[in-house]
Amino acid sequence: MTRYRPTVVEVDLDAIRHNVRLLSPPNADLMAIVKADGYGHGAVAVSRAALEGGASRLGVALVEEGLALREAGIASPILVLTEFPPGSEKEALEAGLTPSVYSDDGLDRLSDAARALGPPIGVHVKLDTGMHRVGLWPPEDAPAFARRISDAGLEIEGVWTHFADSESDDEGTLVQLARFRAAVDALAAAGVRPAVLHAANSGATIRMPETHLDMVRPGAAVYGLDPGGGIAEGLGLRAALTWRSAVSMVKRLPAGERLSYGGRYELERPSTIATVPVGYDDGYPRTARDAEVLIGGARRPVAGTITMDQILVDCGDADVGVGDEVVMIGAQGDERITADELAERAGTIARAVATGIGTRVPREIVSAEAPA
Ligand SMILES: *Cc1c(COP(=O)(O)O)cnc(C)c1O
Repeated sequence: MTRYRPTVVEVDLDAIRHNVRLLSPPNADLMAIVKADGYGHGAVAVSRAALEGGASRLGVALVEEGLALREAGIASPILVLTEFPPGSEKEALEAGLTPSVYSDDGLDRLSDAARALGPPIGVHVKLDTGMHRVGLWPPEDAPAFARRISDAGLEIEGVWTHFADSESDDEGTLVQLARFRAAVDALAAAGVRPAVLHAANSGATIRMPETHLDMVRPGAAVYGLDPGGGIAEGLGLRAALTWRSAVSMVKRLPAGERLSYGGRYELERPSTIATVPVGYDDGYPRTARDAEVLIGGARRPVAGTITMDQILVDCGDADVGVGDEVVMIGAQGDERITADELAERAGTIARAVATGIGTRVPREIVSAEAPA
């Protein structure tokens, strides 16, 4: 479809390849997490770039996300991070998706489907060590659960867990790691030695090498998004996402005029106001306070209530015209606005801003070809 609106997300695949190389530990593999359409960047393109950058596996949240990657021709191992939902087992196994298991019911459904399909597949047992979302709890039950898996004719390829606060809580993360190691030791004592132990999300990958085990599992950092608390600063990660538009209308307004719904922004002096065709339906957070965008290489305040399809920008006395580039996230001249900055102004996190960019914003790939 022809595009008439200039609002686009640009995804730099070189940044993805660079970040994967930078995050890959010397002695552990890397699974790139590409759930939620690759954190809003476009899962297929990001997956290919991550594999080119050295990722050996991909991780997704949904069976549907894994199937979409297979349909796009991606052949690498793909781990689904929760149990296959009831009814999806056969299709997921036929597509060669790697299952996570952590419940008796999930295991029964999986083994029924696997029996009908032939050779056993390697499963990844998820242990709950403190996040309490999904996973086998208590983790001390791992040896008994492993016995059930082998009785069902399935093999364990991996054992894994997930940290609740690796961005800032060393102590809590080490408690989780200790519970994980104890369960792995108990498995070994029962003769079960899985090939792939994994735990580290972005925070742990960046801050805590002792969590790297056989494989790390970063998401946010792969995209150059700060995982939290500014911990990616100075690492050399590159933001893969630029969100840009262009000025659609310009007005000179006198002091005293109020802008947008509710008239909450009153001009204290005459000012040039630019309209930009991006709004909260596109994921520009309606809750953002004191947000800024870049026009003409300078920061300009977003003025008044953010509407569904458009925002207003107070450009003061600057010379701004229709068609001028507007950057919501990314660089322009010497200035840069990060997803993290916009997230902070909206009271959320960079991941939520990136995944929240709406489906009506086209994703354009730059540097698609990996250098030879
Ligand atoms: C989302 C997710 C990750 C990646 O998390 P980041 O903090 O974005 O790196 C890793 N593992 C699991 C199980 C996840 O759900």
